[in-house]
Amino acid sequence: MDVDNIGVDVGFGDDEGGEGVAENTEDVSVDIRDVIQVGRWHGRRKYKDGQTWKHRIQTLNAAWAPLIEEMSEAYIKWKYSFGLPQTFDESYSFSISVVDALTLVTEVTISRGSDTRAAIALVYAGYIGTSPEKPSLAVSLKTLELYYTLRLFKPSLSIEAFAKTISIRRKVDAQVAKELGHDSANYHVLNSCPACCYKLEDEPELKFSRMWAVDGNNSLKRVAGIGSREVSDNRVFEESDYYLSKDFVNTFAGEIKARTVSLVADEDPDEWVDEEHGDPTDGTKDASQCTENWKAAAADQHKKMWSIFDESGGELAKYPLAVVAMALKVLPPGWIMGYDIGCSFEGTIQRSSLGPEFAKQGCRTCVNAFHGYSHNAKCQHKYHPLNILGMGLEDLETLERLFSSSNQLAPITRYMTAYRRRVFIDVFLQQWDREKYQNLATMLHNNYIQALDVLEEEAQALQADLLAKGISVEDLEAYFIDEANHLKEMGKEVEGDLHAVAYVELLQRYREVK
Ligand SMILES: [Zn+2]
Ligand SMILES: [Zn+2]
Repeated sequence: MDVDNIGVDVGFGDDEGGEGVAENTEDVSVDIRDVIQVGRWHGRRKYKDGQTWKHRIQTLNAAWAPLIEEMSEAYIKWKYSFGLPQTFDESYSFSISVVDALTLVTEVTISRGSDTRAAIALVYAGYIGTSPEKPSLAVSLKTLELYYTLRLFKPSLSIEAFAKTISIRRKVDAQVAKELGHDSANYHVLNSCPACCYKLEDEPELKFSRMWAVDGNNSLKRVAGIGSREVSDNRVFEESDYYLSKDFVNTFAGEIKARTVSLVADEDPDEWVDEEHGDPTDGTKDASQCTENWKAAAADQHKKMWSIFDESGGELAKYPLAVVAMALKVLPPGWIMGYDIGCSFEGTIQRSSLGPEFAKQGCRTCVNAFHGYSHNAKCQHKYHPLNILGMGLEDLETLERLFSSSNQLAPITRYMTAYRRRVFIDVFLQQWDREKYQNLATMLHNNYIQALDVLEEEAQALQADLLAKGISVEDLEAYFIDEANHLKEMGKEVEGDLHAVAYVELLQRYREVK
């Protein structure tokens, strides 16, 4: 008995290429056989049938869709060896070539009942077929699970068959989340960190309800297709609450008018400006030149390369504004947000439609500590975490740490379909969260020890210095205010100085005339 004699064999069907006339897709499975040398294929390769990859991928996704639910159920039964089918109709058994990295078996016979589809029978036996219907090759689930685990620890690993295992696991995870009541809206933001998200009885109020960070990530962007080449897989991945929906983000697209390029003579001609899309602030020149500095920092990179990316525009204002809008909706009031350009972006928020709510909730921004040192003294005085009461040990460089890890993912996500890229980033973030959760007690313990050390050792050293100089803590507070006033006046000519200079100039003229 052959496998289901319906539908099409479209191989692994995870084409990443553009739309064009497809090779006969049976070749995909045939080629996999050739590469792994599982029973060389003697079948005839058919000629092109004129279907495009786009059609092919849509047909394929449509064919998998109704099976995933049933495959997920079969997967759980296989995984925990319960409720597996016991009765088979031998006339429906079929033999199939398999890939199994653990047993090295190359062919198995799959038994099934007359009403069990081949794709489902394969999962019961611990395999996934390379196509939803009429599979001619299957990969063992244990092999794919091994791959899944490898990927969790080495994000740059890539293989496309893996994708369906992710679909199944996501379904299973969603079921588990539902059973545990972990499927409510914004669950991750509201619950992922017990220390930040849950309040103890009589817990002392903190200065900030929550500290969180924003940054753009160029490395994980997708490279756009060339010319008119469209991506075949046009599904949109929205099953993860790590992402804000495109519609929600676009609500803020018109908020801030893009900054136009205007280079005056003494401006750095290398200044980075995203000509097409503007920059994340609205370009209003407030007190500081910080946004300029921040762009100067970007000048070392290839400033005008961004248009190669699918979602271009550097850190467009709509993205951080959408995140701020969500934070205002979901987080308790009185939070602080760290951003490389937190100083100028505070003005952007205030001038946006979010301004009134931002003010009402008593929220504020700051510049993360490491980036803060590249901002001018006046900015640091107000926005550097060192000068903000209630920041404690936090530097808010959270995302630099995250990106240094997610960069491992970048080489494989840049050329993926938009859908697949999001899936991989989602898997990456889940593992990131798991690792942080696991490390939570150690991290809190270390921070607690560090805080005690600061209080015991550095506070003593400070007391000794104060004593030696004959000044008090109150004096220090007064110096801080003096410094702020000094910085405010810096760059402006004091009237007394103007008169003095004019007087000296007149004296010089007087000497010449004499
Ligand atoms: Zn936390
Ligand atoms: Zn600044």
